[in-house]
Amino acid sequence: MPLRAKVASTVSRTAAALSRAAGRGDGSVIGGWIGLKIDPDLLSHLATGRRIALISGTNGKTTTTRFTAAAISVRGRVATNSFGANMPTGHTSALAKAGATAFAVLEVDEHYLPQVMTAVHPEVVALLNLSRDQLDRAKEVAMMADLWRQALQREPAVRVVANADDPMVVWAASTARHVTWFSAGQRWTDDSWVCPACGAHIRRGEDGMADNDWACAGCDLRRPDPQWTVEDDGVIADDGRWHQVRLQLPGRVNVGNAATALAVAAAFGVRPEHAAPPLAAVASIAGRYAVVDRHGRRVRLLLAKNPASWLEAFEMADDAPTLLAINARDPDGLDTSWLYDVDFAPLRGRDVIISGDRAYDLAVRLDVNEVPFRHVPLFADIVRAVPPGPLEVIANYTAFQDIRAELDRVV
Ligand SMILES: [Zn+2]
Repeated sequence: MPLRAKVASTVSRTAAALSRAAGRGDGSVIGGWIGLKIDPDLLSHLATGRRIALISGTNGKTTTTRFTAAAISVRGRVATNSFGANMPTGHTSALAKAGATAFAVLEVDEHYLPQVMTAVHPEVVALLNLSRDQLDRAKEVAMMADLWRQALQREPAVRVVANADDPMVVWAASTARHVTWFSAGQRWTDDSWVCPACGAHIRRGEDGMADNDWACAGCDLRRPDPQWTVEDDGVIADDGRWHQVRLQLPGRVNVGNAATALAVAAAFGVRPEHAAPPLAAVASIAGRYAVVDRHGRRVRLLLAKNPASWLEAFEMADDAPTLLAINARDPDGLDTSWLYDVDFAPLRGRDVIISGDRAYDLAVRLDVNEVPFRHVPLFADIVRAVPPGPLEVIANYTAFQDIRAELDRVV
């Protein structure tokens, strides 16, 4: 590395360590920020010599990144941004902190994917899905897909691992030269009724079409045949063989994330028989999926931050008393009208409790959806309001953080 990059890298690590020592989080944002101030090309310098996979999409990228890093680690050391700091500051910090590694697996915010691709020249890019997220700030879904499309056109050597079930992703990947398709299922289809290529409607569920098949009514955009698919509690690989995937993380959604991780690992030469076993060791990710026992209640924490991930959380949660907690602070997005994009009907028949700053918005929504609920503001009271046994908690971003902090206080 050039001298400036070496200095920048050292200062970046020191700043991150100081920030951690001062109890201000993991320090990856400030460390990366300072490093990039000293050397604007620091991320490129740190990327040189590593084989890099980037993981991007609206949902599932943190989990898929963790799975992919675990899978590839059987081949050598892997640098990764495991705390979800998924912008260039976080990537810079993660690579500086890891030192020299053969591999890097980086979660990338979907808006930053083109910029990060240019900086690090990844070997593999995994495209998971695109759906609406934070209405007051996010780009429209088709615009996002078009940015990806242009970025892939500029990097023809990249191997893309992409979701065949999401028309937006398929269109985005259509400029890529090498694509491996996976199918992880798509529960949320409300952002892909209209073809991003021609504006005609996307056909689904018609006579003669398979369950997850789709095709544009106006042009030749259609679901490609996936080489990697989920079947039961396992994954069928590109050689047609089925591999069982044992996970601690719940739900079919996470088997889909595992399928993606295995497809990325295979692109680095790690076959599923070696890549799958380490996935079983992943228990929770920055508190997500964590299970905590309090007063005989088995509290499980699920983060849901946009309509698609709420549907996924309903699928992951067991049929048990369920707390829904909603805030609308800055990191959550200030607009709660997305609540009307989510069908809460799957919760009918469960004991539903609501809390959070915007519990009343949720109350109105549940009432419209004919889902009975109780409002219990304090977490300590919520734990006592349900019988001993499982309590599923589904919360958006800051509500999730609040509950994690409360859990530490409830002993
Ligand atoms: Zn079309």
